[in-house]
Amino acid sequence: MTEKMLKFVKIGQQTPPKREILTRKEDFNEIYKEFIDEKAKEQSSRCSQCGVPFCQVHCPLSNNIPDWLKLTAEGRLKEAYELAQSTNNMPEVCGRICPQDRLCEGNCVIEQSGHGTVTIGSVEKYITDNAWDQDWIKPIKVKNEKSQSIGIIGAGPAGLAAAEQLRQIGYQITVYDRYDRAGGLLIYGIPNFKLEKFVVERRTKLLQEGGIKFIQNFLVGKDATLEQLQEKHDAILIATGVYKPKEIELPGKDLKNIFPAMEFLTASNRKGLGDKVELFDNGTLNTEGKDIVVIGGGDTAMDCVRTSVRQNAKSVKCLYRRDKENMPGSAREVANAEEEGVEFVWLSVPKEFLGINTIENLVVNKIKLGEPDDSGRRKPEIQKNSEFNLKADMVIKALGFDPENLPKLFSSEDLRVTRWGTLKTDFDTMETNLSGVFAAGDIIRGASLVVWAIKDGRDAAQSIKKFLENKEAKKMKVA
Ligand SMILES: Cc1cc2nc3c(=O)[nH]c(=O)nc-3n(C[C@H](O)[C@H](O)[C@H](O)COP(=O)(O)OP(=O)(O)OC[C@H]3O[C@@H](n4cnc5c(N)ncnc54)[C@H](O)[C@@H]3O)c2cc1C
Ligand code: SF4
Repeated sequence: MTEKMLKFVKIGQQTPPKREILTRKEDFNEIYKEFIDEKAKEQSSRCSQCGVPFCQVHCPLSNNIPDWLKLTAEGRLKEAYELAQSTNNMPEVCGRICPQDRLCEGNCVIEQSGHGTVTIGSVEKYITDNAWDQDWIKPIKVKNEKSQSIGIIGAGPAGLAAAEQLRQIGYQITVYDRYDRAGGLLIYGIPNFKLEKFVVERRTKLLQEGGIKFIQNFLVGKDATLEQLQEKHDAILIATGVYKPKEIELPGKDLKNIFPAMEFLTASNRKGLGDKVELFDNGTLNTEGKDIVVIGGGDTAMDCVRTSVRQNAKSVKCLYRRDKENMPGSAREVANAEEEGVEFVWLSVPKEFLGINTIENLVVNKIKLGEPDDSGRRKPEIQKNSEFNLKADMVIKALGFDPENLPKLFSSEDLRVTRWGTLKTDFDTMETNLSGVFAAGDIIRGASLVVWAIKDGRDAAQSIKKFLENKEAKKMKVA
């Protein structure tokens, strides 16, 4: 362990350098987000109630931030919660994991005047956690049950938000998911220290209690085709996310101990959930005592390096081909990782993996940034004679995700996709080219954010409602 890591372990008392680190409930607390009643009030009262709420404009859900801050400052916490919940199906989740520095907080007028942002996300988390504690959050009670049913494929935030919105209207909802637990990446992607799993589980339990049916361990494509689900339901929402890891085609790529990010994170999350994870317990997917190299510069890479630190790795390096300013990951996450002792190897790409059967070293090339490419970002170019070696006992590849081939998987070859493989939908209605089949979340956007998945789920629910009302009206006309 480096000195910095040891310091981090000391600061974060919750993270002793032991393996039970992943199973103790108190470890789930994000050490940077300790937030108490008085602090929430104090932060909320800093909101200047400016005439142009840029924070609200830059929140994908257009949350009425100034008003719930005002209510919090006045101690009217129930009203604050009700307002926050009215535009967001999981305010406590967004409060914890939205990259606020790029969204609401980054556009706070107080921040821009140089006085430090109002910590909007922490207040949002606080008022909703408080509402759970006070027992103000109740399951949906449907007044008028409707006979029409909707099949939702995928129990991630997009699918769950749509399910809740549609159930509130009275529709019969069945959510199908291939995993054993609902929550999508909220459960098996995002680590415990950023998002405690009980926060997700109490939400899905609430939805179940409100009459939403969950069918887990159900892989659409194997256990049913899309067409079979279409026959069963009046409308379908596809919210399957994107899971195919982007690959790295280099000599030595098949050596042992080179893992895709999701394999590593899922093992760690399962362990945190109390599952028996053999590959973790036998050390294969556990970074304790090892030299770790994570390749990539996005939020997934940050989750991998920070999880490695918590598993008590000997050293953790993050290899990224651009520089800090051009990193796609949240600046706050990078700062957190640096503080925890992660070493960033900027402007570097792997050239080759070396080892006998198992990874031992990476051969790395240095990069210089050239002219901007079509995306406007400066193009990385390899510097001649710049090779150097990095020692690694384990390499984690966090290079991003592509969509799976859904038309093939679903046996629906006529389901239209974009050139990136995401589902093609009508811009206004979110309907695919198949009538009554809608889509939401990462499967239409590519890898994105939870808050956008929730927004999509809510928008798709609106369109599905309209579609079903038209369908019903047509039926009545014919009758
Ligand atoms: C490691 C990691 C960390 C992240 N951290 C953050 C963060 O800090 N903040 C943030 O805002 N965003 C973060 N994201 C992104 C965020 O998690 C996603 O944008 C969001 O979860 C997308 O929601 P979704 O509902 O579209 O898909 P998902 O959450 O991926 O859910 C899709 C669900 O569909 C199911 N499914 C897929 N195919 C099938 C099938 N054929 N049959 C049945 N079920 C199927 C899956 O099992 C899954 O449960 C992170 C992503 C990753 C990978
Ligand atoms: S949902 Fe995200 S962007 Fe919107 S107010 Fe909450 S933390 Fe900010």
